[in-house]
Amino acid sequence: MRIAVLGGDGYCGWATALYLSSKGHTVAIVDNFARRQWDHELGVQTLTPIRPLTERLKTWYELTGKVIELFVGDVSEYDFISSVMKSFEPEAVVHFAEQRSAPYSMIDHKHAVFTQVNNVVGTLNLLFAVREIDPDCHIVKLGTMGEYGTPNIDIEEGYLTIEHNGRTDTLPFPKQPGSFYHLSKVHDSHNIMFTCKVWGLRATDLNQGVVYGTVTDEVLMDEALINRFDYDEVFGTVLNRFCAQAAIGSPLTVYGKGGQTRGFLDIRDTVRCIELACLNPAKRGEFRVFNQFTEQFSVLELAQAVKSVAKEMGLRVEIDHLPDPRVEAESHYYNAKHSKLADLGLEPHLLSNSLVDSLINIALQYRDRIDPALFTPQVNWRAARNERRTGNV
Ligand code: NAD
Repeated sequence: MRIAVLGGDGYCGWATALYLSSKGHTVAIVDNFARRQWDHELGVQTLTPIRPLTERLKTWYELTGKVIELFVGDVSEYDFISSVMKSFEPEAVVHFAEQRSAPYSMIDHKHAVFTQVNNVVGTLNLLFAVREIDPDCHIVKLGTMGEYGTPNIDIEEGYLTIEHNGRTDTLPFPKQPGSFYHLSKVHDSHNIMFTCKVWGLRATDLNQGVVYGTVTDEVLMDEALINRFDYDEVFGTVLNRFCAQAAIGSPLTVYGKGGQTRGFLDIRDTVRCIELACLNPAKRGEFRVFNQFTEQFSVLELAQAVKSVAKEMGLRVEIDHLPDPRVEAESHYYNAKHSKLADLGLEPHLLSNSLVDSLINIALQYRDRIDPALFTPQVNWRAARNERRTGNV
């Protein structure tokens, strides 16, 4: 297939672009390097020293003979994304190109507005470009499990059948997101659903859980293909952060009681889920929702798993409970369905001690690049201004 990967210089996008290319698909990456700029803005860096995208792509070509085309530009500019659609003619567009950090979106007014404009306008541009240039093109959009929040009932995959005053209907599952970032994803979902209905577009919304890991078969092929490993309080996902903390003997920072339970998945499953969605497209007019995660854990369970693996490796690690900077339930009911991708053939890589061991080993390998100051949560949901390290967006 011809697949455009928007956000292909990022954590999930880079792994996905290489995986799809290795499977024989014709791939193009679209990115404006905004994420590298946000790292500069916050004074943070990925634990792993990622190379410039052009160098990554050159290495991939030298190793495999496969060309990944590159389009550098901003998805939130309509003329740019419509010219990509015209020139590359994708059969599927995988849309990762958004600002994806909840704390970043909660820094202050500027960051909240930026997040929502970047994300909502980017997706809206893509919808219009697909309608104008090729309404048959399948949109595979990355949403998040955070769109649902933590309701006191089971979470379904996108839709809920309810009975009300003697009548029954199947409706979008209620959304109770927990940050301006998660809200941007809800707004995206509504816009995509609307355009499937009125223009007959076809789309799959992948409500992804929290991704962990950094290694896929493809990035292992050469040091120059190494993927991001974010560990800071703004962009670091929780398991990656705990492994970096364990590597330098810094306490694992659990927010509040640590009963916050979420869906998680290995990055090797992210890339496979994307391919499955592309190979099995939604029908014209269909807005399909898959919950893309493989297991659920509480934050405290993950901290305990990292602590116990670290101990076996001879590392002493404590768990610190910090006041929760976020406004969220610290212990709650959580049971989310996730069978649709398994039905399409996903065989999950479940979290094992050996995976945690390998993540801690990666963190040990690059431990000189770890700045412990970046572990401390600085962005507080209750404050209207959190621009300690920032101010220039
Ligand atoms: P990332 O920040 O590593 O990558 C996003 C990429 O998109 C970056 O390379 C960035 O430069 C690019 N980008 C952002 N805005 C752009 C724009 N306007 N034009 C062009 N390029 C732009 O993020 P990630 O962790 O790879 O996440 C990818 C997607 O998956 C996001 O939409 C995110 O919401 C979703 N997701 C991620 C996770 C996770 O755990 N990482 C979990 C759930 C959902």
